[in-house]
Amino acid sequence: MTALPPGSTIGILGGGQLGRMLAMAAAQLGYRCHIYAPAGDNVACEVAAACTVAEYHDLDALMNFAGSCDVITFEFENVPVEPLKSIFGRVPIYPPITALEVAQDRVAEKEFVRKLGGETAAFAVARSEIEVEGAVSAVGTPAILKTIRMGYDGKGQVRVSAHSELASAWRRAGGQPLIAEAMVRFDAEFSVILVRGTDGEIRYWDSTRNVHEDGILATCCLPAGPLIESQQVAARKMAGDVADELEYVGVFTAEFFASAEGPLFNEIAPRVHNSGHWTIEGAETSQFENHIRAICGLPLGSTATIADRVEMQNLIGDDGERWAQLFSDPAANVHLYGKAEARTGRKIGHVTRLYR
Ligand code: AMP
Repeated sequence: MTALPPGSTIGILGGGQLGRMLAMAAAQLGYRCHIYAPAGDNVACEVAAACTVAEYHDLDALMNFAGSCDVITFEFENVPVEPLKSIFGRVPIYPPITALEVAQDRVAEKEFVRKLGGETAAFAVARSEIEVEGAVSAVGTPAILKTIRMGYDGKGQVRVSAHSELASAWRRAGGQPLIAEAMVRFDAEFSVILVRGTDGEIRYWDSTRNVHEDGILATCCLPAGPLIESQQVAARKMAGDVADELEYVGVFTAEFFASAEGPLFNEIAPRVHNSGHWTIEGAETSQFENHIRAICGLPLGSTATIADRVEMQNLIGDDGERWAQLFSDPAANVHLYGKAEARTGRKIGHVTRLYR
């Protein structure tokens, strides 16, 4: 692929904070961004050259959008795939649509990883209420039931410790097809974030130790500690194999549990990831800049960490009310996403601290 020259327009599907940070990185490199998202708190539009507010299924709007873009990417992994297929061929879409398809289905992604030799928690599928009992018996209790599609940040998840809880669990999970997963007794969580260029070159950022609270990422720290460091090589191999198989272009994230048996793959995000926000200040090239570089066919930047210790803390719900205190801390690199409403559990910003 010949590189897209600065001044070209990058289309971004999705209008959240990931799109906002992608658009800011793109602007630094001289590209224009056009955001496409349904009506909502589209904080990416505030920093982009153009914004189309329309449903993902609105083919006319999508066609017009595609006509204005030189390349299209996405910041939201639940973008419906079918409408995207109709614009494919008019304009390149990176990462590939197949990566979206795999990542949107928790069963497909686990099977994809296993086919390539990766390890996952034991899982079984329940496509109807009647199958829940059998699926949970297959993986044992305690188990986690997750909706196969459309789950994120712990949404659509129910933990069950006894069979007597299953009927209510099916209802609580929304009465949709479920995956039952064995509860992993992990010692830590981490993700592998990599960028893959149009020529197949892969670069990896260091894996942070990720701590979740109520299913939502709370903090990321480097160094990640000996356990994660010892499992990073095997996890990188798994993530890299998946990216190669998908002929992926852009930033790709794979989340892992560090267990006594080695790294267990949890899920894929075919996009920049919250656990990579620290790279804005903590790495030579951020995940956002390298995603833009990759999809524009530019040389990739160095992913090396530039501090001895890094801490990223998410600001969730009303954490943003501490803005005055955060802005007066000289060590805090504060990022606020400009969200109009600070609902419970909503990510409204993050803070990164580097220690040298
Ligand atoms: P997910 O939506 O799959 O990323 O899950 C959100 C969080 O729930 C994970 O980061 C873990 O902290 C926890 N979790 C998910 N699946 C499992 C599992 N099979 N065993 C133990 N904890 C899990």
